[in-house]
Amino acid sequence: MQTAALIVAAGHGTRLGGELPKQYLHLDGQPVLRRTVSAFLAHPRIDLVQVVIGAGQRDLYDQALLGLDLLPPVVGGETRQQSVAAGLTALASAAPRHVLIHDAARALVDDALISRVCDALESSPAVLPALPVVDSLSRVDGNQVTGTQDREHLVRAQTPQGFDFAAITDAHGKAIGQTFSDDVAVARAAGMVVQVVPGAEDNFKITVADDLKRAESLLRQKDQASVETRTGSGFDVHRFASDRELVLCGLTIPHVQGLAGHSDADVALHAITDAVLGAMAEGDIGDHFPPEDDRWKGVSSDIFLRYAISLLRLRSGRVINIDLTIICEAPKIKPHRQAMRENVAAILGVPAHRISIKATTTERLGFTGRREGIAAQAIATIELPREPDTFVAA
Ligand code: MG
Repeated sequence: MQTAALIVAAGHGTRLGGELPKQYLHLDGQPVLRRTVSAFLAHPRIDLVQVVIGAGQRDLYDQALLGLDLLPPVVGGETRQQSVAAGLTALASAAPRHVLIHDAARALVDDALISRVCDALESSPAVLPALPVVDSLSRVDGNQVTGTQDREHLVRAQTPQGFDFAAITDAHGKAIGQTFSDDVAVARAAGMVVQVVPGAEDNFKITVADDLKRAESLLRQKDQASVETRTGSGFDVHRFASDRELVLCGLTIPHVQGLAGHSDADVALHAITDAVLGAMAEGDIGDHFPPEDDRWKGVSSDIFLRYAISLLRLRSGRVINIDLTIICEAPKIKPHRQAMRENVAAILGVPAHRISIKATTTERLGFTGRREGIAAQAIATIELPREPDTFVAA
């Protein structure tokens, strides 16, 4: 076990208004604590995450962190220092080499900051992320200024503060009965040398209602800055042919006739492929697989869709969802629908809940109504890294 994260979420403070402790308030759709914990869970150098909760907060915790892979929470004490000590005790059996101790209310902690603390721990027993003080500092008494404080040797302390696990556990043991403002203070009292690394401005503590607003706007900026959502549509028709097997969504469907076409004539996969290509503005299936090319004669159409998905992956994109409608009088699609969803999901490499397959007739009207063929239409919604629009003057 290399590195554990200890998230201190034992506060009962409801300073932001409302009845929920602030670590359970929602921040852009997710509880603050879930965002904080997820940042550590997602970091490749964090092996284990332990949360310290307040007495009576187990239900809130279970709801907020549902489905995340965490150690069972431990209940903290009256003070933050006691809560950290309880968390360290809970981690003792895992015996990590390092521990990063972090405030639950600093929900915008980022990967780079966690990495900086981990890096510094390779050469120091204790690490403090901190920011310079830029405002001048005045001493006051009531509403009167009594002096000016030199800021040259001052920094603003943040978390995660990183420590050698055995050393900080020891230091907390020695600190029992005394009160310290944070874990770096506990470490220093025990004689540990603390290295400073740069903190991050966005890693602020969410304490007042304005902080929650500021955090939400930062999160939205980040989300919007990094990806964009795009939509594509696909439509295809194949006529029935009596000497062919019917293939839809990659599955052979028992029916009196199949569809005519150069490939296996899987009209459904063709529509989905065109929708995915369309969302990327990468032309259509015929551009990539010309029908006059004999290599595609009789092939299983999943290769077209796999190709479109490989283009999407090359661009670091992902499928958000597919909605397909198959239009025919017969065969009945419903008995095959779940198997079709699962097969399309497997080809795309996404869970089946992202794939919708519907069917309709055209009330015996038109070519599908006359049972001359099958039509399919699909919409694909994808996410791509945002590309800036660059306009070239005419
Ligand atoms: Mg086709």
